[in-house]
Amino acid sequence: MTWRNLFRKPINEQDTEAMSAEVKPAAPNRGVPAHLAQAIEKRSAGGPSPNQDPEQRKLAGLRRRRVAILFDIEQGELAASPDNPWTQRIALLGEAMTNVGDDLVEASKVEPGPNHPVPATPIAIGAIDSGDAASVAFSIGANPFLYSEDPDWAERGHQIARSELVRRSGEVDALVPDDTREELREPLRAHLGDSLFVMASDLRDRMLDGEPLPPSPSLADHAAPCPVCGGWTDWRGTCQNCARRNARIMELKREEGRLLDERSREGEERRRLIEGLPLARKRLRDVEADLARLGETFR
Ligand SMILES: [Zn+2]
Repeated sequence: MTWRNLFRKPINEQDTEAMSAEVKPAAPNRGVPAHLAQAIEKRSAGGPSPNQDPEQRKLAGLRRRRVAILFDIEQGELAASPDNPWTQRIALLGEAMTNVGDDLVEASKVEPGPNHPVPATPIAIGAIDSGDAASVAFSIGANPFLYSEDPDWAERGHQIARSELVRRSGEVDALVPDDTREELREPLRAHLGDSLFVMASDLRDRMLDGEPLPPSPSLADHAAPCPVCGGWTDWRGTCQNCARRNARIMELKREEGRLLDERSREGEERRRLIEGLPLARKRLRDVEADLARLGETFR
């Protein structure tokens, strides 16, 4: 679409302006040499100039308005035609929505999470220091664990959040039952490592908040089967398998909503352009009548 170019000033405007300013006919399209008429047209399109008379300015304004209305009409006729960009985009967005819908069905399927039972080995809670450099000690059977915050953190004056607990001692590998299938050993080790960190942080926070400590924790509290997918849940009952599935579902629903919005915007724009056609045509007739009264002819 080149209609916008009509509003751009030509580079050699200085020269043409000087020429046309000398001539300045009352009715520019009558009896003016073609190259001058063009120069006047260009100058008029460039906006009002201080040495234009009111009639020239009015003419220029009407011409600009006519070009803008012609553009509206062109867009409206395009929108009303059977093969138009809006309908094409709406169809593409519909296809994308179908794909997202298929992905949602797929993502909503509950795949069984990994599980292998762990023994209810009691966890003996040891010393918990919730001070500036917190530390949490506990034993799982004969396996002692110690978590503590980064000892440097208190010296970093700008630190606002508490630093995370870090496992200083304790063998997570030793907690993986011997009869665990080979392909589940690493996932279970990672799961127990994460869950013990969650428990250590929970114990520190309970101590900090003056809340009671859990009465009889055991290793089994770190691998209870998820009621939805049967996978391991952690100390707080969170199932990573379900959390991942739910995050994927949320992501797809956001995408679905975005596509739906975009599709209705396209539809609304097309409707607005079509509905605006009668008024645009009427405005064109009016502006052309005004231009004709000033001596302008069309086509
Ligand atoms: Zn689950």
